[in-house]
Amino acid sequence: MADLFPVLGFDIGGTKIAVSLLLSDGSLIASSRVSNHNRAPEDVLPEIVAAAKKLLADTGYSQDSLKAVGICAPSPFDFEKGVILNPVNMPEWRNVPIREYLADALHTRAFFDNDANASVLAEWLFGAGVGAKNMLYIALSTGIGSGIIANEHLVRGETCDAGEVGHMILEPDGPLCQCGLRGCWESLCGGRAIARRLQKELAEYPDCRIMQLAGTPGKIDMKILAAAVREDDPMACAVWDEMMERDARAIGMLINIFNPQVIALGTIAIECESIFMPLLHERIRKYAWKKTASVCTVTPGKLGHKLGEISGGAIALYGLYENGEWELPR
Ligand SMILES: [Zn+2]
Repeated sequence: MADLFPVLGFDIGGTKIAVSLLLSDGSLIASSRVSNHNRAPEDVLPEIVAAAKKLLADTGYSQDSLKAVGICAPSPFDFEKGVILNPVNMPEWRNVPIREYLADALHTRAFFDNDANASVLAEWLFGAGVGAKNMLYIALSTGIGSGIIANEHLVRGETCDAGEVGHMILEPDGPLCQCGLRGCWESLCGGRAIARRLQKELAEYPDCRIMQLAGTPGKIDMKILAAAVREDDPMACAVWDEMMERDARAIGMLINIFNPQVIALGTIAIECESIFMPLLHERIRKYAWKKTASVCTVTPGKLGHKLGEISGGAIALYGLYENGEWELPR
């Protein structure tokens, strides 16, 4: 095995920035967090550099041994320039050249990507997709998005918008999506969309099980829905069933389009595995060819709660791999 070396990952979020130190075999050595709630980048950036240097010092790695850093950045950003543009939930961050800043401050190379791409890289390098040539990671959370690996490379597309699977239109007459289209997969099956729909529709039914579990309409979310499904509540099961059918339809289409060896699924597939995965497997058969489905393992992601901490480092390692300086784990 090649010599192990450290890389750093920065996961930039609206409330916090996670800084993680990873070895090139994917093992997480240490991590820390810096608050980013309503703070200006001029204040936060020096703090994340200090946190990164402290992680290296505390774990006995010299700054010279650091081969690269990876930045998991919120949209929108300029990929070519490595600049965070104007994320909605980070009002003080405007046109921040974070890639150059961190490269200079830590005297190393810095690589940059979005959340969904970071997730597929982490699961591909160290999780459910190790050894696969073609794979997808699909985040099934408040929103729906994906990262795509084809022939051992990340697919970014012409404008870095590849992988926006949540905006495949499943029902042309469906609800208006926040992207401006109608009936997108995310507007039907995203956690935010389902919660909002139930909050509105069930407000007049205080005696239904979902409302009993939630207490008030505003508290209805995917966790409450799943709890009612586990109790076999008929109303909850009908909503779940409809969601599963659409999820299977979308994932089946993706199996036929990309012919992947692995599709790793996030959040809901992990948190609700027993009521989600068997139904999905059963229904995918309707929407994908036997040939493509039989070679594709559809599974919950394997990195679980560590995904966020590993994904920044995975961006760094993938950058080195694309430069021919690091080989894929097998
Ligand atoms: Zn949409």
